[in-house]
Amino acid sequence: MSTARAGEGDKKYFYDVHCHVQTLSHPCLYAYLRRFLPLFSVPVVGMLLGAAIVLIFKSKQKNIANLLSVMERNASEILWLMNDDFNKSAVEIGGRRFESVIITPLLMDFWAKVPAIRQIGYQFQPKSILPQVLDVFNGIAEFQWGTRISDGNPPRVLSPFPFMGINTKHFYLGVAKPGEKRTSLEKTLNKYFGDRSKNETLEQNRERAFFNRGTFKGDIEDLGWRQFAGIKVYPPLDFDPWPVGISEELAKVRCLYKFCEEKGIPITSHCSPGGYKVADDAEKLAHPSKWAPVLAEFPNLKLNLAHMGERLETRAYAFGGTIGIKKFPIWLWGNWTEDIIDLVEKYPNVYTDMAYAGYEVCSNSFYEALRVIIARRPKLGDRLMYGSDFSINLQDSKGYREYLDVFLKTPHLTDEQKVKMVNENPERFLWVNS
Ligand SMILES: [Zn+2]
Repeated sequence: MSTARAGEGDKKYFYDVHCHVQTLSHPCLYAYLRRFLPLFSVPVVGMLLGAAIVLIFKSKQKNIANLLSVMERNASEILWLMNDDFNKSAVEIGGRRFESVIITPLLMDFWAKVPAIRQIGYQFQPKSILPQVLDVFNGIAEFQWGTRISDGNPPRVLSPFPFMGINTKHFYLGVAKPGEKRTSLEKTLNKYFGDRSKNETLEQNRERAFFNRGTFKGDIEDLGWRQFAGIKVYPPLDFDPWPVGISEELAKVRCLYKFCEEKGIPITSHCSPGGYKVADDAEKLAHPSKWAPVLAEFPNLKLNLAHMGERLETRAYAFGGTIGIKKFPIWLWGNWTEDIIDLVEKYPNVYTDMAYAGYEVCSNSFYEALRVIIARRPKLGDRLMYGSDFSINLQDSKGYREYLDVFLKTPHLTDEQKVKMVNENPERFLWVNS
């Protein structure tokens, strides 16, 4: 494979719109574990939790070790892992060869104010996203310009183009009040996306993925236009897509959506009942129904409701029944996958991705469910995008290549459908404005 540049033909580009270049220093593990730690001091509950953890580790010890061995690395090494997996053999679908890979690593704002656990010694402090941004951009520069002589300096086929993690709660809108420590939402949007215009062509927009690639010199102030492909929001970390009744917060999300709709900037939102749940009402905030009022007001917003719900939800929607999480009352508002497809059909720029879901478990194929659903609701086929959720997906996959090969080889999807998922749909989501 060789590194192709924009303008060399549209069909060369393979996209992974949902992956992470996440080291162990990025997530806020304290905020995540805080929900469980106090439970350990309740005698019976603590014993049961301990037993459950032992069972999970027993059944998944290799996957957990594999995931940790990746997340212990620095960002450039994680990019090399993915690059090496793409170089292992050609990526081909129906005789079409993909020679350049554009990935959009999703940065996440892990800042969370959580109740303190008493008497732990040092008090908890919320975690800023800034070191994560520095880390990822330094990693991209090192991946691009560092040498790997020991490995023969293999070709770089990856072009990483991150999504910026934003939680509007951590910004202010309008004029700063005295003592305001947060950043201006409007200034931030303008700083990173101010040059975007709906008039730009697909090629001009795609060129952004190559412009400035790896030129970061370490000063966060130097980041600006063209460094981020879009915006990632993460409701389980307490981002509320439509905070009804909280006028200041509602004004902020309106500002974000108006800006993105006007400039054609894509937003990806985590949309499954799982994930890094920190907010007490994480499932409610992440549910696709939260986006219905957003889209009613901003019908042209480019939005990816990621994960398509969750693989068990998707199978429940395809084949009926009450398998998996569908049984629990919190999800009785409706099936996540079905609700996402309702929005896909209703609005022209709503997409979804298959991040994490595409691993193989005997007689429990995600792709078989996809085939059934796409036959039933064909518009989904034009809005569904390939996503790996690497490296988080290592909890159920051995590596990037294994996950990719399961997708490339599945008999349940046609070649035409696969090309839509890795090329046509993401190109439209990322670069085309309507
Ligand atoms: Zn993810």
